[in-house]
Amino acid sequence: MKLKQQGINTLCTHAGEITDTQFKGAVSPIFPSSSYAYEDVPVKRYPRYFNTPNQEALGKKVAALEHCEAGMILSSGMAAISTAMLAFLNRGDHVVVQQTIYGGAFNFMQEEFPKYGIEFDFTDGFSEQDFTSKIKENTKIIYIETPSNPLMKITDLEMIVRIAKDYNLVSMIDNTFASPVNQTPADFGIDIILHSATKYMGGHSDICAGAVAASEKHIKRIWNTGKNLGGSLSDYTVWLLERSMKTMALRVKKQNKNALKMAKWLEKHPLVEKVYYPGLKSHPNHKLAKKQMRGYTGIVSFELKKESDASRFMKSLQLIKQSLSLAGVESTMLAPAQTSHFLLGEEERKKQGIADNLIRFSLGIENFKDLKTDVEEVFEKL
Ligand SMILES: *Cc1c(COP(=O)(O)O)cnc(C)c1O
Repeated sequence: MKLKQQGINTLCTHAGEITDTQFKGAVSPIFPSSSYAYEDVPVKRYPRYFNTPNQEALGKKVAALEHCEAGMILSSGMAAISTAMLAFLNRGDHVVVQQTIYGGAFNFMQEEFPKYGIEFDFTDGFSEQDFTSKIKENTKIIYIETPSNPLMKITDLEMIVRIAKDYNLVSMIDNTFASPVNQTPADFGIDIILHSATKYMGGHSDICAGAVAASEKHIKRIWNTGKNLGGSLSDYTVWLLERSMKTMALRVKKQNKNALKMAKWLEKHPLVEKVYYPGLKSHPNHKLAKKQMRGYTGIVSFELKKESDASRFMKSLQLIKQSLSLAGVESTMLAPAQTSHFLLGEEERKKQGIADNLIRFSLGIENFKDLKTDVEEVFEKL
């Protein structure tokens, strides 16, 4: 059976797996060697070359899930993002970046690009004009993230690919929030797909990793920069990530369901000012999300009514943890204004629409009624 014909759960479970020919065990063996023979071998393997057996195998799983020719595993989402960008940039080049992106990616560009004479501009919004008006003679990359953190804004993938073709740019997407379960941007023609595997791919809040998927040609280029920067992942963690990814589609589909139910319930609640979730008909990009996504992710952002205190609300929850990261099997919440988007400053937050009592809710796989009860009990006391 060709990989292309296989369903998502089959790909999650089997794509790229290593057959245990020696003992015929059910799962991929782990090969932790950091030293391999170099003579009379088809591939010279070394951990930092991203080509130990486990790294190579998991790269294949990511490629299959993202409908790309090739994939690569890195030590973190930021290693994936920084390596991929630097692979395509030279001194004097320019990048057009979507207005709201992950804070770490924002900091990377802000703090590191000037050292290498690389320029970048953020768009003022999400329309075609917002992107094209920032393109210059020396623009090389168009960089997006959809759905975006924390307001779950949706960027039109078809539009981005059209712009990239018209202006001869490399298109890059941070696909972390969607995961390949909900969105496969390569189907629309996006060139480079980036992931923080720390989130949905890992899914259990116990792994830090990154991934890239693209054409063979593009991966070769990223590999070349990657081996110089050295952001490879330990084979032990690669193996654990492979194990985690077997259940990714099961987890994410349940998280999608929990999130949609929660978003609908919160939207009707009198203590809630606003809900940001692309699966809601009230979301301004609902139609676009429906067109380019298979599910709307497990993340719901919502604003409490002005007079309520977001941190007091979160501290009173029993089941749902207040936690920095997201996408684990356990439900978590955070206030972006105090954490992920604190460094932006009050003015920039206001410009982007991130209110002080905005809460980003990452739905886990728990039973929905228990999550609802947890939130409801605190609402009653507010
Ligand atoms: C967490 C995250 C990253 C960074 O990933 P790390 O694994 O922490 O380096 C990048 N993009 C998004 C959208 C994220 O949520």
